[in-house]
Amino acid sequence: MENIRMVIAGPRGRMGSEAVKLAAETNGFELVAVLDRKNDGRKLGEIGHFPLPEVPVYSDIEECLQSVKADVLVDLTVPEAGMHHARTALVHNVRPVIGTTGFSTEDLEELKELSAEKGIGCIIAPNFAIGAILMMKFAKMAAKYFENVEIIEMHHDKKLDAPSGTAIKTAQLISEEREARKQGHPDEKETLPGARGADIEGMKIHSVRLPGLIAHQEVLFGSDGQTLKIRHDSYTRASFMSGVKTAVETVMKIDSFVYGLENIME
Ligand code: NAP
Repeated sequence: MENIRMVIAGPRGRMGSEAVKLAAETNGFELVAVLDRKNDGRKLGEIGHFPLPEVPVYSDIEECLQSVKADVLVDLTVPEAGMHHARTALVHNVRPVIGTTGFSTEDLEELKELSAEKGIGCIIAPNFAIGAILMMKFAKMAAKYFENVEIIEMHHDKKLDAPSGTAIKTAQLISEEREARKQGHPDEKETLPGARGADIEGMKIHSVRLPGLIAHQEVLFGSDGQTLKIRHDSYTRASFMSGVKTAVETVMKIDSFVYGLENIME
C-alpha cells in the first residue's frame, strides 16, 4: 500500500510537535511538508528539534499544496487559520483532519458542503483522546436515565476557546437523549454573573483554566439521592495521538464529512 502523504499545520505547537513525531514513527505515514506561519522556506530541522529535519516548511497553504503532493492535511493551530487550511485543502482535493477547536456552526456547515461537493473525506475531531470519546458515549447512555446534568471541563490556561469543543460536543450528544429543560431552582438568581456557567438547553457548562492541567472533563449527573460522575483525564498530549492516527487512516477511506471521532469508532 502507498504511504499516506501528510502535511501538518502548527508543527511548533504542543499538539503539532507530537503529530510530527507520530508521522515520523508510523509505518505508512509520510510527512511531505509542514505549514508554519513564521518559517516559510526553511526546513523542519532548522525550526526545532524534530525527526525528519529535511521536511520543507511553508507559510502559505496554496503554495504548499501546489509544490508537494499531499493526501491529508492535519491542522493543529487556531480556528481562523484552521478554517482557511481546511477549506483550501478540500479545494485541492486534500483530505482535512482537523484537531483545532473553536470552529463555529457555520464553519462546520461550510466544510460539510465542500466535502460533499468534492466527494472526499473530512474529519473534524474536537477530541482525539479515545478515553474522552468513551466518556461522551457513556454520558449519552446515562442521559437516558438522568435528566439533570452539569459538565465541568478543566484545561491548561493557554487554551483560547471556552467552553471546550469536547464540552459542547458532550452536551450535543446528551441532548439527543434529554429533553431541553431548565435545571436548578426555578427562581434561582446569580448574585455574581456567570456563577451558574454557560447554558446549553438548560445543561450547565463550567470552564476551569489553570496552569498544570492538560485536558480533563467531568460529566456530573444527579437525581434523587444519587449522583453519577463520568470523568476523563488527558495527562499528556501523547494521549491524543492514537486518535490522530485513526483519523488520518480513516479519512483516506471515507468520502463524507465526520464531526467527532465517536462517529468512526466501532
Ligand atoms: P499551541 O501549542 O499554542 O500551538 C498552536 C500552533 O498554532 C503554534 O505553532 C502557533 O504558532 C500556530 N498558530 C497560532 N496562530 C496561528 C495562525 N494565525 N496561523 C497559523 N498558525 C498559527 O496549541 P496546542 O495546545 O498545540 O493546540 C492547538 C489546537 O489544537 C488548539 O485549537 C487546541 O484547542 C486544539 N487541541 C485539540 C485537541 C484534540 O484532541 N482535538 C487536543 C488538544 C488541543 P505561533 O507560535 O506562531 O503562534
